Amino acid sequence: MEFDFRERMNTIENRVLNACLRSGRDRSDVTVVYVSKTHPNEKIRGYYDLGIRDFGESKVQELSGKMEELPQDINWHMIGHLQTNKVKYIAGKAALIHSVDSMKLAETINKEGLKHDRVIPILLEVNVAEEESKFGLKVHEVLPLVREIAKLSNVQIQGLMTIAPYTEDPEKNRKVFKILRNLTVDISSENIDNVYMNVLSMGMTGDFEVAIEEGATHVRIGTGLFGARDYNQNK
Ligand SMILES: *Cc1c(COP(=O)(O)O)cnc(C)c1O
Repeated sequence: MEFDFRERMNTIENRVLNACLRSGRDRSDVTVVYVSKTHPNEKIRGYYDLGIRDFGESKVQELSGKMEELPQDINWHMIGHLQTNKVKYIAGKAALIHSVDSMKLAETINKEGLKHDRVIPILLEVNVAEEESKFGLKVHEVLPLVREIAKLSNVQIQGLMTIAPYTEDPEKNRKVFKILRNLTVDISSENIDNVYMNVLSMGMTGDFEVAIEEGATHVRIGTGLFGARDYNQNK
């Protein structure tokens, strides 16, 4: 059967819209990041042709290749773990880096920002559930790091990101999303120069509706839009 981009987009779009309606939010306040990792350019083009411009990738090599090959007006979201030695391949062009979790990484991004004469927007990744297997800061580490990163001239903190635990029951992640949302409120109230808390990147295919109800501004949806990932295909 042929891949029906429009139908998949509409299905997700309706669910996003309903979650917005349920929680009294504006549809325009939520960006759906189409997580295209492991999927070929033709599939990205399928959505691009329907007007989608926000795509997310988690590997530097794959992202920089796609950046080269696909239209320049795509907003590329770097959502995966980022090593300092690879920042240079994507920092000039990424619309938003969702996964900053150390001062060293922020400083490296800042250096690239200086080189490209651009202020690079970033989010801090928070491992709210403190899962061993995941990257990200613990909740109590976030504010001190925000204060340090705020002093850098060529990165700008826009908000926070989390990857909630995998679960069959999205309700189980509601408390994770609430904690992240509350953390943005607490940090905002500190009124730190050069720090914004407008972006809340949380929610994936399995739990994006609950995330929207809890205030997500960016949901990152892969499987629901592109189908299952085959990690062997790209080796
Ligand atoms: C792969 C990935 C997603 C998308 O996950 P799905 O469950 O396929 O929607 C979202 N966020 C991050 C950080 C990812 O690595």
